[in-house]
Amino acid sequence: MNSEAKCDKFTAINELARRRGYFWQSYEIYGGVSGFVTYGPLGAKLKQNIEAKLRELFVTKLGLLEIESSVITPGKVFEASGHVNHFKEPMVECLACNKRFRADHLLEEYAKQSCVETEKMSLKQIQKALEAHGIMCPECGGGFKPPQQFLTMFQTTIGPYSNATGYGRPEAAQGIFVEFNRLYAMAREKLPFGVIQIGHALRNEISPRQGLIRLREFTIADLEFFFDPEEPNCCLLKDVENETLRIYLAPERKACSEKIVEVTVKEAVAKQIIRSEWQAFFMAMAKKLLIEIGVPAENQRFIEKLPWEKAHYATQCFDQEVYVDRWGWIEVSGHAYRTDYDLDCHTKASGADLRVFKEYPEPIEQEQLVVKPVKAKLGPAFKGEAKKVAELLSNAPAEEVAASLEKDGYYMAENHKVLPEHVEVTHEKTVIRGKRFIPHVVEPSFGSDRLFYVALEYAYNVKDDRVVMGFPRAIAPTQLGVYPLVSKDGIDKKAREVHQQLLNEGFTAELDETGSIGRRYARADEAGVPLGITVDYDTLHDNSVTVRDRDSWRQVRTPIKSLPELLHKYFQGKLNFEDLGT
Ligand code: AMP
Repeated sequence: MNSEAKCDKFTAINELARRRGYFWQSYEIYGGVSGFVTYGPLGAKLKQNIEAKLRELFVTKLGLLEIESSVITPGKVFEASGHVNHFKEPMVECLACNKRFRADHLLEEYAKQSCVETEKMSLKQIQKALEAHGIMCPECGGGFKPPQQFLTMFQTTIGPYSNATGYGRPEAAQGIFVEFNRLYAMAREKLPFGVIQIGHALRNEISPRQGLIRLREFTIADLEFFFDPEEPNCCLLKDVENETLRIYLAPERKACSEKIVEVTVKEAVAKQIIRSEWQAFFMAMAKKLLIEIGVPAENQRFIEKLPWEKAHYATQCFDQEVYVDRWGWIEVSGHAYRTDYDLDCHTKASGADLRVFKEYPEPIEQEQLVVKPVKAKLGPAFKGEAKKVAELLSNAPAEEVAASLEKDGYYMAENHKVLPEHVEVTHEKTVIRGKRFIPHVVEPSFGSDRLFYVALEYAYNVKDDRVVMGFPRAIAPTQLGVYPLVSKDGIDKKAREVHQQLLNEGFTAELDETGSIGRRYARADEAGVPLGITVDYDTLHDNSVTVRDRDSWRQVRTPIKSLPELLHKYFQGKLNFEDLGT
């Protein structure tokens, strides 16, 4: 496909999206604001169905816990997590028109080199590279001021207090980490367990110009899976071990090669291509999710992030990418091995103990060095300070006190000189039942809006000059269209009855009585309605209807009384279209 045709497809999808109510830019009557979209009736349903798929895979089938926390988050949380320091992007401002752009994106777009390692570059290096490539303002052709870092979190104040800084969360993960103790209790204090949160995230993107791909407000599905690093094996790996993953590995990327390796999950783990078994498991699940929303396996891949591209919290990180016409490979989900980073940060910053207790199979008996202050001696020696010295001694590491007494003949408890006669150093036997540790985390993180866009693009077909949105049945916004052939002779009444019956059965069904039957089918195809039910004169005699398939445009005849059972099975994927006919 040449690049013009590619633009045509993207433009056609956006035009269809606006016209049919999938989505459009928000605040249109005020000129529109980049980075914000409104999902219309068809789009909202499609997005809900995609999120329902996520829930089906991870909440219903895997038993993950789902929570919903607030979008506005106190500054302390993002200071502790490192976002305040790291959630920044390099930005340049045009000297002439004052428009601002993501410096790294300009470099990637205009330098046309897949190997520009912008995330590794300092601001100075970015400036030099912009100059070397002669990159000018895309709006007016002007030059740029020196690049600077821009914090992409939306900042606000909580209540009317200017010092109570709050941020719009740029991810839903921290809402899970800060609730860890409660969630662990709800998981009956057992590892491994996972928590998912699907909700709005805010990122003050510098210059969003890619429609649904780069929004300032979008829906994120963050899944945090907690496990014991000493027991890292994934008990569910067997279910996915033969699944093939297409991976663009870090060494290939460094060498500017385009080579993709195809490995089974089992091989990826055995060869340490993916270091955490749980991460490999979730990558296989992510591939499955994308197939279920209509993206074939060959148009998906995982790309391993280079050391300087990884988020500040991740040790190993892959992005799941899907090929789209306009932009090539785009990220739809991120898979990060976050280790104990976040829980550790919040433990240190909040003072709350976010460790879990692990009981040993057998209690361990240990001899411990113990330093006990001898109060009868401390009193006369330190008078009013004696209590404080006793406390300092109790809190000091026993080995340190004993070593100092032996080596120097005294121990300094702050500015108090403690002599051997002031303490009793003994060895005591203690029984240790277990230990406390911080669980490790792997995180798959999906963006609903990008899933939505790829579902739309992969559903988009043109057949005989007509658009047919071939959504997989499970995510189609409307399942059934009901059409009276004509609006007279009792056919319209019968169609309304059939429609009501289908609604009562729990289907999403739309009654369309307007225009010719051909126009109604065309409208339904644009809305991706998998099946059409047409009520005609024969229906009045034999109580049967015509069922029309969106994709093949074939038709079969079915008795009304069999419809509910057949249709339920059809939407559960247990029957094909041909099975609906009698
Ligand atoms: P990240 O935390 O940057 O790895 O993002 C997680 C996921 O959120 C990505 O894989 C995208 O699907 C989605 N995402 C990130 N930023 C945006 C954005 N500005 N607009 C829409 N989706 C986004």
